[in-house]
Amino acid sequence: NVRVRFCPSPTGNPHVGLVRTALFNWAFARHHGGTMVFRIEDTDAARDSEESYQQLLDSMRWLGLDWDEGPEVGGPHAPYRQSQRMDIYQGIAQRLLDGGHAYHCYCTTEELDARRDAARAAGRPSGYDGHCRELTAEQIAAYQAEGRPAIVRFRMPDEPIVFTDLVRGELTFTPENVPDYGIVRANGAPLYTLVNPVDDALMEITHVLRGEDLLSSTPRQIALYKALIALGVAKEIPAFGHLPYVMGEGNKKLSKRDPQASLNLYRERGFLPEGLLNYLSLLGWSFSADQDVFSVAELIERFDIADVNANPARFDLKKAEAINADHIRRLDVKAFTEACGPWLEAPYANWAPERFDRAAWEAIAPYAQTRLTVLSDITANVDFLFLDEPVEDEASWTKAMKEGSDALLRTAREKLQSADWASAESLKEAVLAAGEAHGLKLGKAQAPVRVAVTGRTVGLPLFESLEILGREKTLARIDAALA
Ligand code: GLU
Repeated sequence: NVRVRFCPSPTGNPHVGLVRTALFNWAFARHHGGTMVFRIEDTDAARDSEESYQQLLDSMRWLGLDWDEGPEVGGPHAPYRQSQRMDIYQGIAQRLLDGGHAYHCYCTTEELDARRDAARAAGRPSGYDGHCRELTAEQIAAYQAEGRPAIVRFRMPDEPIVFTDLVRGELTFTPENVPDYGIVRANGAPLYTLVNPVDDALMEITHVLRGEDLLSSTPRQIALYKALIALGVAKEIPAFGHLPYVMGEGNKKLSKRDPQASLNLYRERGFLPEGLLNYLSLLGWSFSADQDVFSVAELIERFDIADVNANPARFDLKKAEAINADHIRRLDVKAFTEACGPWLEAPYANWAPERFDRAAWEAIAPYAQTRLTVLSDITANVDFLFLDEPVEDEASWTKAMKEGSDALLRTAREKLQSADWASAESLKEAVLAAGEAHGLKLGKAQAPVRVAVTGRTVGLPLFESLEILGREKTLARIDAALA
């Protein structure tokens, strides 16, 4: 039975890399009919925040990445917040000490630094040198008499750690590269190095899929796992798979602080969760050689960790938008009109709420659905229907209202006045005829009409827009533009 975990620390806003990790774990679990465990690694009180915790939950729910065990749903290994599991970690740290898998280390920071510098200067490995590994009872008593604080340090085995990464294949870490490491601070606070593998063991995680930045933790965690197995705390070492880095602009690693990395940004711009998931799944994985738009169900059916590529993935906003656009087209029209809801209201809408006209919205929505890239674009595309006067986008007005456009507008007004307003085709004929009278092709002739009526040079199909706005308002706007 596959059991994976997503175990973020609640710091800052959810970001693209984090969501990609959640997604790959989730898709893997769902593909195998396994269990998704959601654990909150909130042992760093100084950096963790409740707001960030709530945002994590909310983002997961918005994306549809559900979990079988974790906050709000509970489960057999509750609690799923590490801040509520401190006594468990203390107990295990004690057992590791008692079993000789860990020891107290009394080295001060200054001593450690000095010895590290000396090792570097001599060209020796500069990690912890094992100074406190085999202290005698007298040495320990002396340190304690000095009142030195002690951390708990894990004793790494003296042989190499070899494991087969699900993404990278066989990897070997030699002892000089993985020195003994701290697992409990001098003040008794357990560290990530301890709590993460301990919880993975207790929660019976079978596959650890996480970012490449954590690869260096893996040999340590495997060694700790072996100790936990010896103590009867863990049953089996999980399989590990390290997901490739995501590169942002300029081929630099996408960092949490990159604005491009913020999940909320995509949500506010009106990415559909399924569009964003589709795109994020392509960061290190591919669906097939000739298809990159697919449903969540198809993703689950196909997803295999063996197909994840070890090479860095590049975040490509244009591609993300194109994929999202495809997902917008795939919605049925009712789902589309509903999905646009938030952008038809404050703070996005620039019209008074009572001016919103549902019938007009439903009439125009199908034209918008085939054109939008992100849902937030809807506001500017339909505001002409709900505003008393069209927006005055200066650049658009200067661009479209050139010499001769008044004359064109006058003719267009005349022709439109006598057109059949139940037919967009008839409105098009009217503008076409007006253009012909002034030696202009349709494209040139419709530009001033569009700006007069909608305020902008680009927008939804013009004649359908005019039909929906209606004769009276259209003619009044042309009059206003001519005034
Ligand atoms: N809480 C750790 C992080 O957010 C989890 C790392 C892991 O997956 O092991 O970086």
